[in-house]
Amino acid sequence: DVRDRIASHLDAALFDSVVAAELRRLGTSESFDRLIDLLSQFVSQVATYRWLAVTRHQPARAAVHTNNSCRDASVAQMRAVLGVADDVPVFLVEDDDAVSDLSGPAPIIEPIPFGEQVLGSFALAPCTEGHMHDQLLVKTIARELGAALRMASLVEESRLMATTDALTGLVNRRAFSDWALRELRRSERYQDPLSVILLDVDHFKHINDRFGHAAGDLVLGAVARLLLSGIRNCDVVARWGGEEFVLALPSTPLEGAHQVAERARRQLEQAGIQTQAGQIIPVTASFGVAQLDSQETLEQLIDRADRAMYVAKSSGRNRVECAPVVAVSAA
Ligand code: GH3
Ligand code: MG
Ligand code: MG
Repeated sequence: DVRDRIASHLDAALFDSVVAAELRRLGTSESFDRLIDLLSQFVSQVATYRWLAVTRHQPARAAVHTNNSCRDASVAQMRAVLGVADDVPVFLVEDDDAVSDLSGPAPIIEPIPFGEQVLGSFALAPCTEGHMHDQLLVKTIARELGAALRMASLVEESRLMATTDALTGLVNRRAFSDWALRELRRSERYQDPLSVILLDVDHFKHINDRFGHAAGDLVLGAVARLLLSGIRNCDVVARWGGEEFVLALPSTPLEGAHQVAERARRQLEQAGIQTQAGQIIPVTASFGVAQLDSQETLEQLIDRADRAMYVAKSSGRNRVECAPVVAVSAA
């Protein structure tokens, strides 16, 4: 009957436009993970499913909304059907809105388009076979998700930019402080030593004056690379500002940090920095080392390293000085 057919077309069109409007309301998320969290909340209101998943190609990431009780199986199914490699990190939304049932029809998969590009895939593992509603839902969501996914990635990218120092590629002071604060709490909680090293390039003004500002920039990049090459991958090197750098070394007592600083000092002194013109610029730095005292704040710790660094400066530069271990309460 024609009227039935018109009615069902209208139903489908209405459904499509309502879903599209709801997805646009997700707006701009601060991250891929947050976007998938909101998406899961919405989709679980309009469909029942075993799991849903979103993958993103660039940078590679996947997310699965699953019932807590079958998390591992859902992730394994998702990786298999969407071809997501084992080293791609997966964000999990786990709650009872996804059905706890492992068996069911094959997942419905749609690419997520954005302009001419395909940003990733959207997949839904339905509970019942051949549900037209599910097919339509997956198509609509995949179509509408492109813009939101792109926006979330851009927001993530810009946040990453803001934590990185453009000249050296190291993390900047703010990002370092965020990270170091967490390390400090961990260190206090587990009574694990934490040390910091602060260093300042000697007579850097003179380097700028003699070789030019561009050569000065080159020196800073080279110092950053040298510092990075000498640390463990659980350590962090940051540009503290100007020609000052800071290192944080978890699980490292003062003597260990002193060794790291002394090695860097010697390497810098021996290497010099080569300019594009082939000139060798002699570069040295002065280092201050401090180990976290109990109940000390991050500012206090870095301040002690800074004062040790100034002792190194005033006693001739190109030296490493350690801050004495003093209980803060006595200071
Ligand atoms: P000392 O370490 O022995 O105390 O002397 P210094 O000359 O290094 O100390 P000072 O702090 O007075 O000078 C640091 C100079 O570093 C001043 C500033 O112009 C320069 N500087 C800071 N940031 C940059 C940068 O990003 N690039 C370049 N080329 N120079 C910078
Ligand atoms: Mg300085
Ligand atoms: Mg200096």
